[in-house]
Amino acid sequence: MERLVQRVRDAFRSGRSRPLSFRRQQLEALRRLVQERERDILAAIAADLSKSELNAYSHEVITILGEVDLVLEQLPEWVTAKPVKKNLLTMMDEVYVQPEPLGVVLIIGAWNYPFVLIMQPLIGAIAAGNAVIIKPSELSENTAKILAKLLPQYLDQDLYTVVNGGVEETTELLKQRFDHILYTGSTAVGKIVMAAAAKHLTPVTLELGGKSPCYIDRDCDLDVACRRIAWGKYMNCGQTCIAPDYILCEPSLQSQIVQKIKETVKEFYGENIKESPDYERIINLRHFKRLLSLLEGQKIAFGGESDEATRYIAPTVLTDVDPETKVMQEEIFGPILPIVPVKNADEAIEFINDREKPLALYVFSRNNKVPVGWELTTENTLSTLFLINVPAY
Ligand code: NAD
Repeated sequence: MERLVQRVRDAFRSGRSRPLSFRRQQLEALRRLVQERERDILAAIAADLSKSELNAYSHEVITILGEVDLVLEQLPEWVTAKPVKKNLLTMMDEVYVQPEPLGVVLIIGAWNYPFVLIMQPLIGAIAAGNAVIIKPSELSENTAKILAKLLPQYLDQDLYTVVNGGVEETTELLKQRFDHILYTGSTAVGKIVMAAAAKHLTPVTLELGGKSPCYIDRDCDLDVACRRIAWGKYMNCGQTCIAPDYILCEPSLQSQIVQKIKETVKEFYGENIKESPDYERIINLRHFKRLLSLLEGQKIAFGGESDEATRYIAPTVLTDVDPETKVMQEEIFGPILPIVPVKNADEAIEFINDREKPLALYVFSRNNKVPVGWELTTENTLSTLFLINVPAY
């Protein structure tokens, strides 16, 4: 590993990743890779997550093409030095801020969107003039293999290198000194990554998970709320970092919510969900078993069916869920949606603030005061606040 990182560092020190023209050329090559090898990429994602071509294209490809276009358009401005106001200490100087590449960046990806979670940070790192070591998730092994095969065919091989392997290889990589680490994955491994980075004082970007709540207010368009929650929850079989994790609502709303989500699921995936090309599978047996264990002792309003051979778990809703049970202790990351009854918005706010900070919060209400109250009482601790004030339509 040490030699590999040194080779990439030597390539960075050659200075060739710095010129704007080189960065543009590499980004254009990356775009060509995605366009010319689209079929191979979609096939690899399908093999990992049973994703239909349409879903894989819309979740993982389209955003990359958009990102490359955006970066190519903005890059000349981003790399330009910006003049800075002078002060007493700098009045005799020419003062400006010049963006500089950091050096060698390590990108560690997760399996749930295995292509985009590598490619998007890679675009940023190339655009900023860095060299990059890419470590795809070993759990999405087909996408990991295609990345290792295709990237050297299109990009500078010494500057941008893929390392495949599991925990052992990542642990070895993390012993090396990098100039930045971007990690996407679980909080538990995030702590390992941060501790390893701290040894070299390497700055990190951690894209972690969490339990993202939905609050459904009595005063809202329930049809729209349930449709949107079902879409976000069951996409990629619930394996999305900002998927709605659980619902908070007044007890009287529960049965209506169950019914509406059930109807939406039928509309989205048909009578026989198992046969639907739009419904994915759980990534591996360990996660499959973990998810089934969350159902133990719960009231299943609908769903709950599973098939170990294909790692299928049906879209599932649980009602009257006790906040002390296992399903409410960890990020679910699967197609299980618990409903936890609360008395009102105030109780929902308290419930959320008593727990770890989520990645997103989805509020469904026509009442503007509900989200306003939220912002005040949460002291803006949420990284993403989706205020969905749904008009009747
Ligand atoms: P994972 O198991 O693929 O692990 C992620 C990466 O960490 C892999 O590349 C793996 O090789 C490495 N890794 C695993 N164990 C390690 C160890 N002991 N030491 C060093 N490296 C190790 O993925 P995961 O953690 O199951 O990913 C799912 C999580 O990622 C969820 O919590 C999800 O919410 C989160 N996520 C966040 C975002 C975001 O943008 N915030 C996006 C996607 C996923």
